[in-house]
Amino acid sequence: MLPDTDEVPVLSRVPVTQPVAFITIDDGYLKHPEAPKLFAAAGVPVTLFLTTDAVRDDLAYFGRLRAHGAVIEAHTISHPQLRGRSAGFQRRQICASADLLGEWYGRRPVLFRPPFGAQDRTTLRMAKSCGIKAAFLWKETVHKGKVRYQEGRTVRAGDIILMHFRPAFVEDFLAALRAIHRAGLTPALLEDYVPG
Ligand SMILES: [Zn+2]
Repeated sequence: MLPDTDEVPVLSRVPVTQPVAFITIDDGYLKHPEAPKLFAAAGVPVTLFLTTDAVRDDLAYFGRLRAHGAVIEAHTISHPQLRGRSAGFQRRQICASADLLGEWYGRRPVLFRPPFGAQDRTTLRMAKSCGIKAAFLWKETVHKGKVRYQEGRTVRAGDIILMHFRPAFVEDFLAALRAIHRAGLTPALLEDYVPG
């Protein structure tokens, strides 16, 4: 049970008892042509934190990823640094992006990732005020086919792994899968494990 507060919790590792880890993919500026096929072949649950300005020129692309099991969550309208900005500014970036994604895809996001992993208490309050359940950072990042660890040399149960829609999408995705499997874990859907 989470304490009753006016802020959402911030998690980079989810408290789990099962041997699972979570793949999350951010932004959406680049629509890598191999991603839909890869998702279809892998059959692995993933969470996409999408920036609405990044995806609005090709909503159908992310609709295809949804059809292969990806779940879409919020990552602001224009990807600004939120920390230190006014409540009104942050509320619009968080809440209006969730509203838009809800209109576009028929499911309003309940999870949020602050751009650059930079948030303050206003961010967490504004997120809570418009129906977001939790904000997410990460324990591992994947870039150019390489996994980088914040702690140690292996993925741990409950870890959130961050990658982006970048040119090395296929290599990054496969590297994340390999790292999860090497740790004896299975990719799971973040939305199924969020507390509260
Ligand atoms: Zn981002």
